[in-house]
Amino acid sequence: MIAFRNVGKWYGDYHALRDVSAEVGRGEVVVVCGPSGSGKSTLIRTVNRLEEIGKGSIEFDGQDVHSARLDLNRFRSQVGFVFQSFNLFPHLSVLENIVLAPVTVLKKKPGEAAERAKHLLQRVGLAGKADAYPGQLSGGQQQRVAIARALAMDPPAMLFDEPTSALDPEMVGEVLQVMKSLARDGMTMMCVTHEMNFAREVADRVWFMDHGAIVETGTPDSFFNHPRSERARKFLLDLRSH
Ligand code: ADP
Repeated sequence: MIAFRNVGKWYGDYHALRDVSAEVGRGEVVVVCGPSGSGKSTLIRTVNRLEEIGKGSIEFDGQDVHSARLDLNRFRSQVGFVFQSFNLFPHLSVLENIVLAPVTVLKKKPGEAAERAKHLLQRVGLAGKADAYPGQLSGGQQQRVAIARALAMDPPAMLFDEPTSALDPEMVGEVLQVMKSLARDGMTMMCVTHEMNFAREVADRVWFMDHGAIVETGTPDSFFNHPRSERARKFLLDLRSH
């Protein structure tokens, strides 16, 4: 579903991604972890071309993401991307936030889009909040709306870039719960997160990054219990000592 082939990226002289080759299979959940500054966010942002790459190629659901011919706005609207910040439109209601792209980009009928939005709100546990405004919701609720909004475009895969990092601790669980249920339903997911319990319980594979490279990949069991590289062992030790 998502394939990185020899991807390199530079910020000026800084080598941010080093020859990354890896794949996320259909229905697979991959958690990308690694120390701060290792390139996790840069990597996931290259998938919907929020970051350009300097070398290599990326395929998303059969499309060459960095091709000059790609219709970028249309492509981006169909990649389910959930950020650390929720980026909901404050002047639109929850329902309006969710139906906006399906109606304007996919040309869905407003009534149909609204029905689907209500169904998605139910799915993220916010059935009663269709008419609320983002400012009236907690951070955890806003992030669940952001997930429903992404799902409304029927994305072939969902990308999460630290979706719980901006939340108060008591709200992290409700967002992870929604992500878990998506994973159970077979959604293809690539997640950058520091939530290692989520990685243990939900990931099919863990990618460990350091200094812009994927140093190690494996099942959660092999990564957490038998890390092969010195750098992964140090990362896990540092986590445990926190
Ligand atoms: P992570 O998500 O693992 O914390 P990032 O992908 O955010 O790492 O960053 C990787 C490295 O690239 C860091 O050293 C960061 O300072 C650098 N970096 C990220 N974005 C930019 C940018 N826009 N310009 C220059 N350097 C950047």
